Amino acid sequence: MADGVHRIPLPLPNDGLRSVNVYAIADGDGLTLVDSGWALAEARQRLEDALAGIGHELGDVRRFLITHVHRDHYTLAVVVRRLFGSRVLLGAGERESLNLIINTDASPSAVYRRLLLRCGALPLLERMRRNWPERDQGGEWEKPDAWLDGTQEIALGGRTLRAIPTPGHTRGHLVFADLGHGLLFAGDHVLPHITPSIGFEPARPPLPLWDYLGSLRLVRSLPDLRLLPAHGAVTGSAHARIDELIAHHDRRLDATAGVIRAGASTAYEAAGALRWTRRERLFDDLDPFNQMMAVMETAAHLDVLVRQGRLRSSAGAPGGEPAGSPGGQATAAAGGEGAGGPGGELARGLPVGDVVRYQA
Ligand SMILES: [Zn+2]
Repeated sequence: MADGVHRIPLPLPNDGLRSVNVYAIADGDGLTLVDSGWALAEARQRLEDALAGIGHELGDVRRFLITHVHRDHYTLAVVVRRLFGSRVLLGAGERESLNLIINTDASPSAVYRRLLLRCGALPLLERMRRNWPERDQGGEWEKPDAWLDGTQEIALGGRTLRAIPTPGHTRGHLVFADLGHGLLFAGDHVLPHITPSIGFEPARPPLPLWDYLGSLRLVRSLPDLRLLPAHGAVTGSAHARIDELIAHHDRRLDATAGVIRAGASTAYEAAGALRWTRRERLFDDLDPFNQMMAVMETAAHLDVLVRQGRLRSSAGAPGGEPAGSPGGQATAAAGGEGAGGPGGELARGLPVGDVVRYQA
C-alpha cells in the first residue's frame, strides 16, 4: 500500500460482502492492525499467511485498533488476544452495544424486534421468525483492553494515528487518520462502492443517520486523504466519495418524504414503496434479513426528516431535542416495556411499544 502499510483482505461467510480489509502497519519491531476480521478458522489462516508474507507472525501483533463492534471487524482480535496477549482497543461509544451482546440476559434480537414493531413491520417479523437464529449466532465477544474515548493521537513507531469518533454506522465507530502520510483508515464510515448501513446495532441511538451525516461532514473537513476502506479497493480521495454519499442521502431523504406524501405512514410502508440497492430492486424481492435492514434504514431517514421539520411523527421529535415544528411533543423518556430491564438504557429517547406514524 505505502511504506509499512499492508492491506490484507480476509474472507467473510455471508453472500453479501466478500471480504473485510485488515490493515497491518509496521510499529517498531511488531505490528498494529486496524480491524481484525471475523473469528473464522479460514480468516485466521489467511491472516497468518499474509503476515508471513511480510516477514511477521501472529504473535507480532501488539495491538488491534478496531473501527467498530461488528463481528467482521472485532471478533478475530479476541481470538488472537487469547493466544498472544495483543491489546484490543475499541471506541467508547460501543460499550452499550457490546454489553448487550455479551449479556446473555439481553438478547440483541429482542431489541431489533422492538424496533421493527415501532416501524409497523409485524408481517416482516413473522417472516423472520425462522431466519433469525442463524444470522445471530457465532462470534467471539469479550470486552476490549481499553476504550478509546474522544479524539486522540495514537503513536506508532514512525507515525501518528488520530482516532476520530464518527458515529453513524455504529454509535462508537472510529476512523484512524494518518495525516502525516495522507491516509484514512475509514472502517465502514466511508466505503467506495456501497453506502454503509446505519444504526444496525443493539444500542441503536435515536438519530443514527443524523449522527452519520455529521460524521461525514467532520471527515470532509479534514485534508483530503487516500481512502483505505474496510470493504473494497483503496481509492485516491476520501472527499470525492464523501460528496457522493452525502448526495445519495439527500436524494434518499427526498424520496422517503415523497412516499409519505403519497400515502405511506409507517417506516415499513415507506420501505415497501421505495426501491433498493443500486439495481433498484423491489422491497418484496429482498430476503427477510435485507428487508429488516431496509426498514431500519427507512426509519433512520424518516427520523431525520422529522428532525429537519419536513415531516411530523406520532412520536414527536426524535433525539430528545425540541421538535423542528410547532406541535411536536418531547420524546417519551424511558418508559413502557423497555424501562428497567436490560433494554432500559436503549429505550432512552426511543418511544417503545407503539407503531410510529409519519405525515407530511
Ligand atoms: Zn464491515
